[in-house]
Amino acid sequence: MDGKVLPRSFKTQAPIIVKGEGIYLEDESGRRYIDGCSGALISNLGHGCPEIIEAVTAQLGRIEFAHPSRWRTEATEEAAREVASMAPEGLDYVWFVSGGSEAIESAVKLARQYYVERDGATTSKAQVIARWNSYHGSTIGTMGLAGSMARRRLFSPLFLEAPKIAAHYCYRCPFEATYPSCGLLCARELEKTIRRIGPQYVSAFIAEPIVGSTVGALTPPEEYWPMIREVCDRYDILLIADEVMTGCGRTGANFCVDHWKVTPDIIVTAKGMAAGYVPTGGIIVRNAIAETLRDGSGAFLHGHTYNGNPLSGAATAAVFRYMKKHHVVENARAQGERLATGLRKIEATNPMVGEVRGKGLMWGVELVADRATRAPFPKSRGASALATKECLERGLVIYPGGGMIDGVEGDNFLIAPPLVATAAEIDEILKRLEEGLDAASKKLLS
Ligand code: PLP
Repeated sequence: MDGKVLPRSFKTQAPIIVKGEGIYLEDESGRRYIDGCSGALISNLGHGCPEIIEAVTAQLGRIEFAHPSRWRTEATEEAAREVASMAPEGLDYVWFVSGGSEAIESAVKLARQYYVERDGATTSKAQVIARWNSYHGSTIGTMGLAGSMARRRLFSPLFLEAPKIAAHYCYRCPFEATYPSCGLLCARELEKTIRRIGPQYVSAFIAEPIVGSTVGALTPPEEYWPMIREVCDRYDILLIADEVMTGCGRTGANFCVDHWKVTPDIIVTAKGMAAGYVPTGGIIVRNAIAETLRDGSGAFLHGHTYNGNPLSGAATAAVFRYMKKHHVVENARAQGERLATGLRKIEATNPMVGEVRGKGLMWGVELVADRATRAPFPKSRGASALATKECLERGLVIYPGGGMIDGVEGDNFLIAPPLVATAAEIDEILKRLEEGLDAASKKLLS
């Protein structure tokens, strides 16, 4: 009768965290850390934000739960209005769930149902094309779309595998070409794949506008998303933007697709949506899709107990109100430029930094054993784990990742502080990062 949490890892004992304030976290020993990755790009407003806490607490006092099959709540209606007010024009319907994986599954199911309602039950449009070096969640459904290679291998017999194309990884181009003379072979691969499968079998293409956790902020060339949008339109395929990480201001735009003025058919979001105050996710849906269901069967044949729960609604509405009132997206853009300048200095001077890339306050750093050849460190060196440890010792939390590069694990991490970080805080992050990476590179390259 000795209850224990089944930990994510039995190998390391994570410290107990007791407090958070702004960009800082404090553990049980009183040690303070800068949350340099907002948890995993979640705590966009930092920790302990009074406005959000008040909104959630007030909602708890009104109504904590009401089953979505019977009731609507003002909190969730308000959240939909707030989210749509920052989403691209023409995406007014929001479906609320409890996290990113549930939201992805909702998008995939909605794409299928949309075509059934539009074209009839005999439609064959169902497959979703995804990309390698991407991440869409940890459920069996979402892992069939993508996922970290290391984790996929263990569970792959369970998946319904989606067809996949290569992601835009210009630093290690999967087509061994160079931008811009490549003509964006990576985007053109979508059309080839659709034609191979047959567009009549494909319902959607899904991608992260900036690849997040698997390879560290892979940022596409400017033409990529407009080209992808055009191909999806030409073949009557829905474009699903997985903005679980990149959404809600993270990249210095309301949603990351705004950088390229592209409107997807469905935006999937989570993380920053309620900024970590309550588990939340959702899909933001093009009106024509939602209204096809409205005028057809009249219902989305999908649901979870916690759909549109009022606590998530109150937190989401409060987060979006806060973002507008305090110009959080503008701050992410301005501080992002400061962070980018500092990271580029580190890129120029640290011998194991191969590339830094990103937008706004979402940056990836790729570590290499040899900058001239771009050779990754052998996996046994644990380069990103060491960099993470050295930064942590200097009181800076970063988010380690590892991409599969031609069958070899690479090393990278994300640096993505809360969107409310000040210029002085960005400078402090850069200082600790530079020191941490210096110490790690001395050990790794000696
Ligand atoms: N999609 C992306 C791009 C993500 O980064 C994540 C989580 O990191 C997910 C989906 C899954 O979200 P969740 O962990 O909330 O299920």
